[in-house]
Amino acid sequence: MATPVRDGRPPFASLAGVELGALFQALPSPCYLLDEGALRQNGEMMARLAQRTGCKLLLAQKAFSNYDLYPTLAPCLAGTEASGLYEARLGREELPGKEVHVFCGAYREDEFDRLLTYADHIVFNSPRQLARFGPRAKAAGKSLGLRINPECSTQEGHAIYDPCAPGSRLGTTRSQWDAQMTPELVSLLDGLHFHTLCEQDSDALEVTLQAVEARFGDVLPRMSWLNFGGGHHITRPGYDLPRLEGCIRHARERWGVEVYLEPGEAWALNAGYLRATVLDVLQNGETGIAILDASAACHMPDVLEMPYRPPLLGGGEPGEGPYTYRLGGPTCLAGDVIGDYSFSAPLEEGDSLLFGDMAIYTTCKNNTFNGMPLPAIWVRREDGGLEELVSFGYHDFKGRLGRR
Ligand SMILES: *Cc1c(COP(=O)(O)O)cnc(C)c1O
Repeated sequence: MATPVRDGRPPFASLAGVELGALFQALPSPCYLLDEGALRQNGEMMARLAQRTGCKLLLAQKAFSNYDLYPTLAPCLAGTEASGLYEARLGREELPGKEVHVFCGAYREDEFDRLLTYADHIVFNSPRQLARFGPRAKAAGKSLGLRINPECSTQEGHAIYDPCAPGSRLGTTRSQWDAQMTPELVSLLDGLHFHTLCEQDSDALEVTLQAVEARFGDVLPRMSWLNFGGGHHITRPGYDLPRLEGCIRHARERWGVEVYLEPGEAWALNAGYLRATVLDVLQNGETGIAILDASAACHMPDVLEMPYRPPLLGGGEPGEGPYTYRLGGPTCLAGDVIGDYSFSAPLEEGDSLLFGDMAIYTTCKNNTFNGMPLPAIWVRREDGGLEELVSFGYHDFKGRLGRR
């Protein structure tokens, strides 16, 4: 593999000029490498958006929750978004003084009082949940919201990520609202929340906002905030920022609401890597195969769940370069395949590979299936210094399976 890194475009831009050999020598394998400089650049772009529009930006922690790097993002965000008790606590502990928002499909009686000690905004999924927990949350001084379902699908191909699909359990449709929202329940609400996008541009937001207006425009003037959810690919090169800003201004002016956005991906997009090593090279008929010490199933689960083919430094489309390989993990899962890539030279045992855009939905979503070790997590500081944040061992695998 050529050194130093020449690729000036994301996702490898933050390593431009770095000597790869030295980088690989300093890091264990496999290993996640978070990039502080790229994270700060994303954060600053988001902070400028908030400044220009007056919106408030939250970090959805389910995409990125490596809290050692929260201080890098802290000046750029209003707070965090949590999917439940633990993430709410993490946001409260690791970003003191910032807002904590939580949305959960259903809250539990045995957790709710503790949740109230961490959260500022609590968003309910259904009128029943609002009726059950809302009065207590209101009495505790919380800001209350209801997640709505504008029934407006803007994505094709990723049905698993479409909360507007027919029969969806996420969000309250207008007909559910009409059947169940008594004036008392409505009076508990401070805001509405929708989350319907996934890795999308602001044209999809614009269409969604029109659906929100068509279905819930009559109740919005009573609200003090409207949360646009996540899925806004704001920091992706080419994202249409002016259109997003138009949507934010429209909501603020039309309904007099404060606008929140809670992206996850956008904060840490192209701000991390996964370093891996070739353990074996084999051939099955026409197909060249390399087995790595990193696994799609365990270490980059969205590769199989989305599914998608992650960027690889120096790896072209299959057939583009003279040597094409199917890269797979060492697990027993036949489908533990990262993708097909081509190279300018044959792969050999011991070669290092670097996957891009690996800060999101990885460290917070990985697993030890097959007894696979969890990769260590390192950070590359803005001065180029490398630091280990955490490493894992046998007890991180065993400890989840029985008596400790
Ligand atoms: C997943 C999720 C987000 C963040 O989504 P990204 O695609 O990472 O931006 C925000 N809010 C809610 C309610 C979510 O479920």
